[in-house]
Amino acid sequence: MNSLMLIRTARFSLAKKFCGCTADTMSWLHILYQWTTLTSLIENPFRNRIVESFSEDGMGNLSFNEFVDMFSVLSEMAPRELKAIYAFKIYDFNVDNYLCKEDLEKTLNRLTKEELTPEEVELVCEKTIEEADLDGDNKLSYADFENMISRAPDFLSTFHIRI
Ligand code: CA
Repeated sequence: MNSLMLIRTARFSLAKKFCGCTADTMSWLHILYQWTTLTSLIENPFRNRIVESFSEDGMGNLSFNEFVDMFSVLSEMAPRELKAIYAFKIYDFNVDNYLCKEDLEKTLNRLTKEELTPEEVELVCEKTIEEADLDGDNKLSYADFENMISRAPDFLSTFHIRI
């Protein structure tokens, strides 16, 4: 099954899940109810960034299609490369298409629930850039990021939300 088919399958099962039959008869109230019961997303430290990354306006206002896209990418069925693209988007806090030290610091603080000291966070982020920045511009492009996570096969396996 190719990537597109996987996504379509995920979309179909989501549409069925959220509206009982097709997207046309979907009730927003039902979606809102589902939304509030998605505790794994509610507890996700990146929830605001996730929602912002999938919204066209970048403010977190999701259309139904964007909402479905979000859960398609976060589902366990989504292809690895698609997850990588959105993980990069989510960690790119200042939306400049690079992961700079500040982006990585924010990411790490959220991942570790701010349990590390600012010095430890700085050290880890400097080290990450040093190791993963292949073109030496002191920030990670998507290619750098992809190369980095390809060496950590478990990285994206955690990038899903059970639905
Ligand atoms: Ca950035």
